[in-house]
Amino acid sequence: MVTQPPRYLVTGAAGFIGSALCRYLCTQQQAQVIGLDIMSYAASRAAVAMLPSDQFQLIEGDINDMALLTKLLATHQPDGVFHLAAETHVDRSIDGPMAFVTANLVGTASVLEATRHYWHQLPENKRAAFRLLHVSTDEVYGSLGAEGAFTEDLAYAPNSPYAASKAGADHLARAWHKTYGLPVVISNCSNNYGPYQFPEKLIPLCIAKALRGEPIPVYGQGLNVRDWLYVDDHAAALHLILTKGRVGEKYNVGGAAERRNIDVVRTLCALLDELRPAASQRPHDQLITFVTDRPGHDERYAMDFSKLQRELGWQPRISFETGLRNTVSWYLANTDWVEAIRARNYGGERLGQIKAQA
Ligand code: NAD
Repeated sequence: MVTQPPRYLVTGAAGFIGSALCRYLCTQQQAQVIGLDIMSYAASRAAVAMLPSDQFQLIEGDINDMALLTKLLATHQPDGVFHLAAETHVDRSIDGPMAFVTANLVGTASVLEATRHYWHQLPENKRAAFRLLHVSTDEVYGSLGAEGAFTEDLAYAPNSPYAASKAGADHLARAWHKTYGLPVVISNCSNNYGPYQFPEKLIPLCIAKALRGEPIPVYGQGLNVRDWLYVDDHAAALHLILTKGRVGEKYNVGGAAERRNIDVVRTLCALLDELRPAASQRPHDQLITFVTDRPGHDERYAMDFSKLQRELGWQPRISFETGLRNTVSWYLANTDWVEAIRARNYGGERLGQIKAQA
């Protein structure tokens, strides 16, 4: 008997992690993938352009368009849905929180509801195997002090509008499972980095600024600690969680790579010194400039992902040092990609500062 390749719907497919997941599903899992993306400022067609058209199709549309979602599910009959579509930049959520509520909270409800109707009418064998993975973040847990790590049973304490919209979406996903029996699994991951990340996030922003010889902004004293995971490791974890995770469960995903922001930036500068030795800005760390801190900036995130290790045997495979070197090399080889974004919709300016009220 010839087995059919698995077929998935991925929301947010042209985003940073969504596109890495689509590349992983097509090349490592030989899957058929339908990608849905509203093609916001953060989306990139180039990030999925290399995928063969007989395996991957990108549909431009909004997750809040229920008619479109219903049609896509009915037409393509996916075995699972990876839900990644979201507004994702904390600083933008400070400037314009309502867009985050619409995309992340209402949008997740739309995905859950359309998927519920699709799942309900599936034949018994397909219904039993179907899964929806709701992809979330460590930021829902709030901030840690110097010790400890987030575990899956910790109460949520989000501090930014972005984190709160994701926390609300996680609750919706849980409720659709508890109330309707929809086979939902939730993942919460730490900071990702790697190729095709929009250059407003820390690592690509620093690289882009350094390449232009502009000041590299570091919030506060750069002492905030984040855990970092290379995006391809996250993609592999998402596939494993959707296919092997227990329905109704949450899984933390982390890189076991806690670093202070200032140390990440200094390491990036050292890599640029090495990989770009002819540049006039050497040493690149002379460009580091401390700027006013982000309002409500969480002090430290750290992930306890022992449940994912124990139950599904997942481990991050790419060390922070190797991943950062790959990332810097990719941005050096793809300056056109960054420059096109700069020309089109983001010039590297500071966002998310609350203006004094009149
Ligand atoms: P991203 O901003 O690069 O990509 C998000 C994509 O979603 C974009 O392509 C955007 O166009 C699309 N999108 C936004 N609103 C949409 C809508 N209404 N309809 C359809 N598409 C829409 O973000 P990312 O870093 O790739 O994050 C993807 C997911 O992973 C998000 O849900 C995010 O919360 C989660 N996550 C991200 C990180 C991280 O470090 N980047 C860590 C943990 C979890």
